[in-house]
Amino acid sequence: MADIKPPFAQGFGGAKQDKYNAVWVSHSSINDFLKCPRAYFLHNMYKNERGRKVNIVNVHLSLGISVHETLEGLLNYKAEERFKKPLLQTFEENWVKVSGKVGGFKSMEEEMEAKERARRMIERVDAHRGPLEKLAVKLPPHANNMPPNFYLSEKDNIILSGKIDWLEYVPENDSVRVIDFKTGKNDEDKDSLQLPIYTLLLNALQKRKVSGAGYWYIERNDEPTDVELPDIKSAHKRVLEAALKVKQAREVGVFECPRGAGGCFACKPFEKIINGEAQLVKVDEERKTELYLI
Ligand code: SF4
Repeated sequence: MADIKPPFAQGFGGAKQDKYNAVWVSHSSINDFLKCPRAYFLHNMYKNERGRKVNIVNVHLSLGISVHETLEGLLNYKAEERFKKPLLQTFEENWVKVSGKVGGFKSMEEEMEAKERARRMIERVDAHRGPLEKLAVKLPPHANNMPPNFYLSEKDNIILSGKIDWLEYVPENDSVRVIDFKTGKNDEDKDSLQLPIYTLLLNALQKRKVSGAGYWYIERNDEPTDVELPDIKSAHKRVLEAALKVKQAREVGVFECPRGAGGCFACKPFEKIINGEAQLVKVDEERKTELYLI
């Protein structure tokens, strides 16, 4: 494994509390950390000699991005206008952005296979529009194009950020219902922090009652599957516990591999980038990130 020193610990003693010196956490960054602290460091904190973060392009991510952008883009229209433009046309436009090496595809065959899977998902949703034809609620935009965020703990100076794919408005009781589009083959892990994080985001960022939530596995299901959101107290406890572990590791600057040398699935691709064994396919200047094909 490459020998990378984590940056200096970020101390907060006496520091003014604001969004610039807070520790930001999200579902994906906490997940990275819980999988492996070192993988978290490589993915979320490491900067190369050009001062840029690094990330990996991959087929599953590209498929997910194109499908999510197509469906979530419908939120920019009023309910009755959402399907005026053919959904497949929007999908084709979004696919162009992930086509080729930039999307992690190593061959035309690989890309066509992924695109076909994604296209079938879009066709399924188009044939079973259900909640997407109904009223929806959009969370207010945040400054500087940031995802929705709030203080998970002011005392600990931790901010939680996260996006909600779709919020259906339920006029019968003036409530909202979460819909999360799933493009992967597997069910969401039952221990995932996704639902607790939704509970917290909804509580902090909007005022309506929450009447439910559903995971929509769009590769195989015609409608969302109901899931139960946890109560605020237990959600806050679980997410804060995990976020504090992230913060503590950042403070002491220790992101050790719990398995010793050798590397495993969660960090190997990043080690390859750092060792100069991956192909640079794009520089995202806005996010100061270099994207690599492994
Ligand atoms: S080998 Fe596995 S456990 Fe060790 S740093 Fe990499 S991802 Fe983490």
